[in-house]
Amino acid sequence: MSRFLAKKYRTLDAYVPGEQPRDKRYIKLNTNEFPYPPAPDVIAAVDADVISDLRLYSDPTAKNLKESLAKYYGVGAENVFVSNGSDESLNFAFACFFEDGVAFADLTYGFYSVFADLYGIDAKIIPLNDDFSIVPEEYFGLDRGAVIANPNAPTGKALPLSDIERIVASNPDRVIVVDEAYVDFGGESAVPLTKKYDNLLVCMTYSKSRGMAGARLGFAIGNAELIADLELMKYSTNPYNLDSLALRMGAAALTDSSKAYYEEKVSEVIKVREDTAEKLKSLGVEVLPSKANFLFAKLPNISGGEAYIKLRERGILVRHFSKERISDYLRISIGTADDMAALVDAVVEIIKE
Ligand code: PMP
Repeated sequence: MSRFLAKKYRTLDAYVPGEQPRDKRYIKLNTNEFPYPPAPDVIAAVDADVISDLRLYSDPTAKNLKESLAKYYGVGAENVFVSNGSDESLNFAFACFFEDGVAFADLTYGFYSVFADLYGIDAKIIPLNDDFSIVPEEYFGLDRGAVIANPNAPTGKALPLSDIERIVASNPDRVIVVDEAYVDFGGESAVPLTKKYDNLLVCMTYSKSRGMAGARLGFAIGNAELIADLELMKYSTNPYNLDSLALRMGAAALTDSSKAYYEEKVSEVIKVREDTAEKLKSLGVEVLPSKANFLFAKLPNISGGEAYIKLRERGILVRHFSKERISDYLRISIGTADDMAALVDAVVEIIKE
């Protein structure tokens, strides 16, 4: 830290992303990436002409991508905000809507507390119950906004849409942000509710179910006025927040043929998730029911930290969180069937030791 850093940032505890080793030595099950490449239409969308056009600024209105997303999700283009990863939508939502504070779970996406600190927002932490579920009633009639990851991370557990609706309906004067980064793997999306409630913002991403984490593409859907507020933040910080290639690829990922491709691959991930969960349970591993592209699991008779190291020694990277309540658990992303077979074999060895 330099002596010039503004005082208000000196105590910031920044978000720590999962490891991204570049040496391919690992089966990488630590950052919930998709195990398959983007759809063929996405790959075809970037050609020499598009690259030549990089001399021009990208479209700050993201007109084509917004219209494609609007059509795909059955909303108007004025109901869509596009961002550099969904982290940027979340960032702007914190800046815009949580002046009176924000509520979120004790175990959830780690960036929420970082954004709260960054903007000096008071955070009310609501513990998950003993089985790691969100208790909807605890979010009724809040004195502040809330952000709920649904399905939640790192647990993988999802709330039914009826519970999300009860939370949104009970807080008509507060913004409720529902972070649906993992919704395509088995959750119920709250997008249709955005037509009924002007206080609901749904954030989504291309990073998980569309295999485009490296393209940094996210979006938010909500009432046109909420979207205009996010635009205000964007035009006050980075008007060209998406590059031309990402804009092109984002629209190409929504064609009918891309949709069919992703539906097939997402089904495969779900099938592999369920098979892996069954195998791990038969070995005595505790596995939470997951609606996401990862499993939250606790190996018998070994701490999470030790299990993480032993898997790493065997070339398998998973995510371990040191937070006390979950320090014995691992978050294991769902890879290909072969990746998961290697994981199960490694777990068998570790349990035997
Ligand atoms: N929300 C949740 C719950 C996540 O796990 C992640 C991924 N780390 C994100 C949002 C952000 O994803 P991205 O910025 O890649 O869209």
